[in-house]
Amino acid sequence: MFTLSALPFVSGALEPHISARTLEFHHGKHHQAYLDNLNKLVTGTEWEAKSLEEIIRATVDRSEQAAIFNNAAQVYNHNFFWLSLRPAATASAPSGALLAALEASFGSLEAFYEEFKKVAVSQFGSGWAWLVKEGETLKIIKTANADTPLARGLKPLLTVDVWEHAYYLDYQNRRADFIEAVIKNLWNWEFAQSNF
Ligand code: FE
Repeated sequence: MFTLSALPFVSGALEPHISARTLEFHHGKHHQAYLDNLNKLVTGTEWEAKSLEEIIRATVDRSEQAAIFNNAAQVYNHNFFWLSLRPAATASAPSGALLAALEASFGSLEAFYEEFKKVAVSQFGSGWAWLVKEGETLKIIKTANADTPLARGLKPLLTVDVWEHAYYLDYQNRRADFIEAVIKNLWNWEFAQSNF
């Protein structure tokens, strides 16, 4: 059985950028539902003893395993999203080799933020935007629905959930404002550094 990972901060800690109410629904209802569905789907099957990562890599692009993939990937993606965030007062900035790689890949940190916003806003419908490492290069990608860079041979460094449930209570239709608030105020660059 998989268990819900605890948030690495209290639910009001990301205000005013993400409200406690949004976090309580997002973690306590949406993330929990993916986890409950996954447990129902794997119990008594060959997947029961596998890790989340093993399940995701083994079920991607297999239509008969789509339900398991979708729920496993959403559990993984949400775990990764919570780790990508930290309270604004303690938020960090990229430095050292990671900053140098961002500048080499995107021109400047400001250009990286602009490009990330553009990609994240342009995800049509539900999905995710990611900073990933492919070999020695940094890239910005978007994934639809539950899809995840983990299943595509890419190493995720940071993410933003752009499903409506991530922002609708706080931002309604203003997805761009949510993305800007997260990447400028809440991203945990120390977590990115630890994946780099
Ligand atoms: Fe979500």
